Amino acid sequence: MESNKPKLAIVGTGMSGLACADGLGQHFEISLFDKSRGLSGRISTRRGKAHAFDHGAQYFRAKTELFASWLKPFEGNGHLQPWTPRHVYFGADGSRKAHRDVSSKFVFVSGMSAIGKVLLADRPDWKLYLDCMVDLVTGNAGKIFLHCGEERFGPFSHVVLAMPPQQVQALVTPNIAFADALKSAQMIGCHSLMLGYRDQEAPDMDWDCAHFEDEILGFSAVNSTKPGRSGGFAIVVQTKHQWSELHIENNLDTVGSIMKERFETITGIKTDASGYNRVHRWRYASTQTAAASEGSPYLLDKATGLSATGDWCRGSKIEDAFLSGSALAAQLVSQLT
Ligand SMILES: Cc1cc2nc3c(=O)[nH]c(=O)nc-3n(C[C@H](O)[C@H](O)[C@H](O)COP(=O)(O)OP(=O)(O)OC[C@H]3O[C@@H](n4cnc5c(N)ncnc54)[C@H](O)[C@@H]3O)c2cc1C
Repeated sequence: MESNKPKLAIVGTGMSGLACADGLGQHFEISLFDKSRGLSGRISTRRGKAHAFDHGAQYFRAKTELFASWLKPFEGNGHLQPWTPRHVYFGADGSRKAHRDVSSKFVFVSGMSAIGKVLLADRPDWKLYLDCMVDLVTGNAGKIFLHCGEERFGPFSHVVLAMPPQQVQALVTPNIAFADALKSAQMIGCHSLMLGYRDQEAPDMDWDCAHFEDEILGFSAVNSTKPGRSGGFAIVVQTKHQWSELHIENNLDTVGSIMKERFETITGIKTDASGYNRVHRWRYASTQTAAASEGSPYLLDKATGLSATGDWCRGSKIEDAFLSGSALAAQLVSQLT
């Protein structure tokens, strides 16, 4: 059924795009676009034949009441559950300490990326275009078109670009009102090593989460210990962002070899997992310099009818992306309705 609400497009279905859509859905007809085949952006789950890996964000933390209450329904229906891993801290001097971290951590039970699918199942009015890379934005405020290769979508009254700043930059004109803020935002990379062990290979572990005081490695998690996970024994190892930034163009096999050698040296755990053994590169993983303020954590150009949102507007966590998308939605509702 055709709706008589104004049409609004959101490009990017990560946390910021989803939060923005949720704040706008009552007032606008929402169309969501993503270049990936799945939803949820960096809240991502890679599936092999017998293993699954959250190779992007590991868990949710809600420090604000707003985010905690938005997550509540997912907890209520069992999709989101607490995860209480055993932590260990590996010091630079070779020391090893059990690390007590009592902060609440939540994960989606079938895989972190389920957040998008679960949300959209409850929002049947939203139009979704996956595998659809927006490569051009044309038109003017009130009548904007999105182009994905040969296809054209629109007109839209407003377009939200919910993606890392470098990707926003590729879609807007250099003289857009928020050009300077966009340029000032800096993001750095990360590599995730995914190790899927067959049953007979699974190492004996006395930790589920490791933190490293190391130049190369930052964090590791035994993904298969998260609640509700099926599949084989799975470990994710992530680099320090600064190290990845220096090696961002390197061959992934070389990066993988370096990460494995370091992981074995520090933890004593073998990395010759034969079920799955790959590295993923995140070019834009974490915010180095935020683009906006906590009070108005988004970028908006009324003249062109374009806005931008993402974790990079205020920080580098899922909650930052949520708060950015929600704040932009509130602003657009007051401005456009
Ligand atoms: C390795 C790693 C570990 C992390 N660990 C944690 C953690 O444990 N806890 C935590 O809170 N946070 C963590 N984070 C950060 C968290 O993932 C991000 O803060 C959050 O997911 C960002 O959401 P976003 O909407 O801002 O951007 P994104 O999730 O990057 O979403 C952007 C979306 O835009 C799409 N897109 C881009 N360009 C186009 C285009 N031209 N056309 C169509 N679609 C496009 C992309 O495909 C993507 O889906 C981690 C991140 C990484 C990479």
